[in-house]
Amino acid sequence: MSTHRAVLIPGDGIGPEVTSAVQRVLQAAGAPLEWEEHQAGVKALENGDDVLPEETVEAIRRLGVALKGPCTTPVGEGFTSVNVQLRKRLNLYAAVRPVRSLDGVQTRFENVDLVIIRENTEGLYSGVENQVTDDVVMSMKVATETACTRIARWAFRYATRRDRKKITVFHKANIMKMTDGLFLRCARQIHKAEYPNIEYDEVIIDAGCMKLVQNPGQFDVLLLENLYGDVVSDLCAGLVGGLGVVPGANIGEEQAVFEAVHGSAPDIAGNGVANPLALLMSAVMLLNYLAETRGDDVCRDVAGRIRIAYDRALADGAKTGDLGGDLGTDAFADAIIERLDQPS
Ligand code: NAD
Repeated sequence: MSTHRAVLIPGDGIGPEVTSAVQRVLQAAGAPLEWEEHQAGVKALENGDDVLPEETVEAIRRLGVALKGPCTTPVGEGFTSVNVQLRKRLNLYAAVRPVRSLDGVQTRFENVDLVIIRENTEGLYSGVENQVTDDVVMSMKVATETACTRIARWAFRYATRRDRKKITVFHKANIMKMTDGLFLRCARQIHKAEYPNIEYDEVIIDAGCMKLVQNPGQFDVLLLENLYGDVVSDLCAGLVGGLGVVPGANIGEEQAVFEAVHGSAPDIAGNGVANPLALLMSAVMLLNYLAETRGDDVCRDVAGRIRIAYDRALADGAKTGDLGGDLGTDAFADAIIERLDQPS
């Protein structure tokens, strides 16, 4: 059996607590992973480095995959978010966030099964901001045909491979006619020319948000530009139990970084109560990515067994405080480990 070397970034706040719980579950499940630990965020800053040290970026370039805990963005001028930097430096242009209802996690909705695909490199995150006069500051929304076409093609290919039926673009092209207009034109073009097999739909984002909270079951795959994708990801997390249960991946041509949607949660850091599930789900995505890109069936098997185990744990009522349970981070990880099947 071959082992895959991967970068592990524990991150800040609850990051080290949830990453060590996830490492324990992966090890108990026999995941063929060997970690190379690197720093980012406030932890790196305290060690006298940049928030995103060059050697961390280099390690991800070299090994191709990383599991990343959340990183605090220091407040103040001169600090760019680690996440924004990582996505830009490694050109991780597609963010994927699967959002699904979980047995044992009571919410207003049942059977939510959505995938959010977010363009990760431009829009209002381009960092083009100017002080125009003493009174006026300006932030520029950037859209390129290259990036809009690339994310549209990625989304349709993903939907086809995962046997998804429909892609809906959330947009505001009625107001931002040029930028969101380009995003729509590229998506329409890819749909028509390359993926007519997938149903395609467009919804103005404000109405889309209302429809999401009325009946999320009407959506399948959502495709959004950068800022809309950020906001709608958290909204959708709220449909299935909150930030503790939504994983994510940032994927480029050569590298992929897997991380939960949530941040470093300074309000609960150090108390041993954080939910490690979102990061564990992200690790399952990492294993599935290795299975797909490197043809490793062991990774697929381990991913499947972990998923069954955490579904069982939740269904049995084993939950952390954010989901209404009373287990701490480590006890919840133990509950998952106890429910792991033997390898097939
Ligand atoms: P946050 O996601 O850290 O916390 C929001 C709320 O959700 C808090 O009440 C927190 O306790 C709760 N929460 C989050 N994750 C949880 C978990 N796993 N288990 C239980 N409860 C959980 O968002 P924030 O407070 O806006 O941001 C804190 C810091 O994290 C900021 O510095 C921000 O820049 C950073 N951040 C980092 C990332 C990332 O690294 N991917 C993402 C978002 C925010």
